[in-house]
Amino acid sequence: MRVRVEARGVWTGDPETPWASHAELADGLFAADSGDPSAALPLGDFWVLPGLIDSHLHLLMGGLSLARLDLSGVSTRAEFEAAISERASSLPSGAWLEAFGWDERRLGGVRPDASWLRMAGNRCAVAWRCDQHVALANERAMAGVDLSAQVPGGVIERAPNGTPTGIFIEQAAWRVLMPSIPAPSSNAKQRALHAAARHLAALGVTSCGAMEYLADLEGTLAPLAHRGTMPLRVFATILDRDRPLPFTRARALPTTATFRTIGFKSFADGTLGSSTAAMKSHFEDSAGSGELVEHAREGTLSAWMAEVLAAGFSPSVHAIGDRALDEVLRAAQSVDHDHRTRFEHAQIVDPASLAHFAGRTLSMQPFHKATDAPLVARRLGVAREDRVFRFREFVRHGAALAFGSDWPISSADPIQGMRTAITGAALDGRTYWTSQNLTPHEAIAAYTTGAAACLSSASHVGRIAPGFHADFVALDRDPLSCDWLDAPPKVVLTAISGRVIYDAIGATTDSTSTTR
Ligand SMILES: [Zn+2]
Repeated sequence: MRVRVEARGVWTGDPETPWASHAELADGLFAADSGDPSAALPLGDFWVLPGLIDSHLHLLMGGLSLARLDLSGVSTRAEFEAAISERASSLPSGAWLEAFGWDERRLGGVRPDASWLRMAGNRCAVAWRCDQHVALANERAMAGVDLSAQVPGGVIERAPNGTPTGIFIEQAAWRVLMPSIPAPSSNAKQRALHAAARHLAALGVTSCGAMEYLADLEGTLAPLAHRGTMPLRVFATILDRDRPLPFTRARALPTTATFRTIGFKSFADGTLGSSTAAMKSHFEDSAGSGELVEHAREGTLSAWMAEVLAAGFSPSVHAIGDRALDEVLRAAQSVDHDHRTRFEHAQIVDPASLAHFAGRTLSMQPFHKATDAPLVARRLGVAREDRVFRFREFVRHGAALAFGSDWPISSADPIQGMRTAITGAALDGRTYWTSQNLTPHEAIAAYTTGAAACLSSASHVGRIAPGFHADFVALDRDPLSCDWLDAPPKVVLTAISGRVIYDAIGATTDSTSTTR
């Protein structure tokens, strides 16, 4: 069946002919105009774009987070405790209470300790900071872990009298605390992935670069994709970092129209919010300057990169601080001559390094600017404000931008991300470093064509052109001329492979069966 999508405007992603009046699709792909469609999808009041692509998120973690207690809205200890109390009362006895999203910046600068979880009662409780790099555990949860463990790159925080406060930082959270938290069942993971896909569909996301552990890809995600039951296109990057790298298992994963494994990930540092980003000079509000971690710390980053490239995968490296970013750049310059490395986050860059990013791909999350900008002046000092979230500078120096969210670390909403990239607006209501603002066209491109290129899929997704997957979204207003600050567009319909998976306007109630 050939379906004609009628719209007020169709933004194609093609620089030659950016606008069309309609699009035609057949068998899940966009098709050349036949002049003889058998059905119509009437979106005449709306603007149609290629499906939005999130270059970097954590699909399973995001899906699981939808079932965890969300503390991102709490701003006092009383609210924190009330939320814990309410959740605890709804859980079966003995079940862990899992929460996430707290942020000391919204708690008056106070970092919570184990006593904040007292309303969980005698069940185990753990609450992750919004960046997922710090975890808070209660006494009961700490009873199951080795508190004397020494973890390179991690800290088990202690009060002056030596008692653990409940705070586990970086590797201590991941390697000491996390193994004691019961893993979700395979059924729970399947439910979480479906919930994640529904959540993303309502936000207009049709493809994603998913950062996942190999066992989860093998056990849950790839089988779902193989059965065709995941309404989302997934380009997976493997988080497993133990050597030898599991290339054989990675290659054994199925490749389908909606699932492909594209790369491996490494971390070069931590985060700005946790003061663990690796900086060239120390933070203004603490004596430290962060630390390189993993391969970047051991001096093996270029060897790891070369190995990943030789195996046919793209290396994806988390780098937030200016020192970490330079370290990854140096490694890429020595071994990655085809520019396949994905520089993840790239939040702080030394201006002297900008020119060396020409032709390289920066996978950035503009909504991180909305959450982190208010913190930057205090943490980095005014003199270093010209190093953060340099969207415009990267473009000016010929780098390729691919946008994403890092969900569930940040909101998965690409419209919110675009709004920050276009206006500079942060969560405190102010706008920051507006000289770095992108045009709406550039921001949309970073979430479509740019993200597709980053995920090695520029000839399959991200554009409305014959032969591309028929993934598209409809917006309620013109994204190129609307007021992004006060009245950004809303996603009203999302389709993958020509199938509508989210419809807030009733466009599909009878229209797709309309034969003309
Ligand atoms: Zn991430």
